[in-house]
Amino acid sequence: MDVAIIGAGASGLMAASFADDSNNIILFDHNEKIGKKIYITGKGRCNITNNCEVEELIENMNTNKYFCYSPFYDFTNKQVIKFFNENGLKTKVERGNRVFPVSDKSSDVIKTFSKVLSKRNVDIHLNEEVKKIFKSDKFYLTTTKGEYSFDKLIIACGGKSYPNTGSDGSIYSQIEKLGHTINKMKPGLSAVILKEDVSELEGISLKNVGLKCYVHGKKIFDQLGEMIFTRKGISGPLVLTLSSILSNKTGDIKITIDLKPGLDDDKLDAKLLREFKENANKSIENAINGLTIKRLILPILRYSNIPSQKKVNEITKTERENLRRTLKSLEYTYSCNEKLEYAIISVGGVDVKEIDPSTMESKLVKNLYFCGEVIDVDGFTGGFNLQFAFSTGYLAGINI
Ligand SMILES: Cc1cc2nc3c(=O)[nH]c(=O)nc-3n(C[C@H](O)[C@H](O)[C@H](O)COP(=O)(O)OP(=O)(O)OC[C@H]3O[C@@H](n4cnc5c(N)ncnc54)[C@H](O)[C@@H]3O)c2cc1C
Repeated sequence: MDVAIIGAGASGLMAASFADDSNNIILFDHNEKIGKKIYITGKGRCNITNNCEVEELIENMNTNKYFCYSPFYDFTNKQVIKFFNENGLKTKVERGNRVFPVSDKSSDVIKTFSKVLSKRNVDIHLNEEVKKIFKSDKFYLTTTKGEYSFDKLIIACGGKSYPNTGSDGSIYSQIEKLGHTINKMKPGLSAVILKEDVSELEGISLKNVGLKCYVHGKKIFDQLGEMIFTRKGISGPLVLTLSSILSNKTGDIKITIDLKPGLDDDKLDAKLLREFKENANKSIENAINGLTIKRLILPILRYSNIPSQKKVNEITKTERENLRRTLKSLEYTYSCNEKLEYAIISVGGVDVKEIDPSTMESKLVKNLYFCGEVIDVDGFTGGFNLQFAFSTGYLAGINI
């Protein structure tokens, strides 16, 4: 049997590692090397998976999580770790159950795949882009280097983020020609652009803050963690998660930052009163120095309508209440997510209704399989997206 895999990324490499290699398998990638996106994952350290319970893996997916039951139970995170360990890659578990190579080098993950594939009968065609797919009795592929026919085809071409790693959507029109629906690709795990001008706050990094989000007044997000102001908005771990959730939301969207999540309104008011008593003759700007980081004080006073030089003993009750409210709920308006090219993940892709989750085979075209980010499933940060690529790659591989 002749089998083609399009894409030597995380999912295509896993498919090639498990496919029955008594078949003639060709793995195509238009890059000059395999695993180009793996190389930049986890800031160069590759957060391979998450060492949590399988149910938690599923909980950490954003879109179409129910589709993940079969892949995640059929090739679990423990099996992913075992696969890498048995092939010589030592792994470690860090904060939040994130699994990394002990070496802290994503290149070692790629080397592990190279080693596995060097022992298998898989023909790797690099620098070769698949341009056309035509299906009749077989799959006829036209590439930049020639024409081929295959009995079975696995599409592992990735999403559309970071296109310079090769996942550029170049084969999407062919997937649609095969009869599949590709739900619009949108940026997920990205920075968020705000309507307000926050450029003066660029670079301010906040630890242990509360981030809440309201769509038409209804709270849809409330988490504690870290974030950072960018030139046009906000980013950081909390914001990445929020951006994925917001990728399918429109309308009036407000984001609030609680700078004092450990203090409720009454406790914060009592703290303000204490600070005011001790610093009665100082300007408000100097009096609240210890309450938050220095660069935020003037903007906070401005948002609270309090002149920065006003003496503490002249601050009115309303002004104090304004200040408390601003510290608890710095409010901004969501504009959009950062562009797809700069997003960590694409939300969208081949409609899951058209794929059998237990085999990854297309329900529309026999002998056609999908795996990885090209499918309309995305997860949050913590190793969940690579786990999805590995689990679905495994399933496509063993089922061809
Ligand atoms: C900056 C960054 C950091 C990340 N960090 C993590 C992390 O630490 N942990 C985690 O779980 N996830 C992480 N992710 C997400 C994760 O990398 C992806 O979800 C995963 O790589 C998807 O694997 P894939 O095989 O589906 O696609 P890809 O890895 O994108 O592979 C697709 C391959 O197909 C090839 N291709 C595409 N079209 C064609 C064509 N027409 N012809 C030939 N070849 C083609 C491409 O060149 C590419 O090599 C990160 C993503 C980014 C951008």
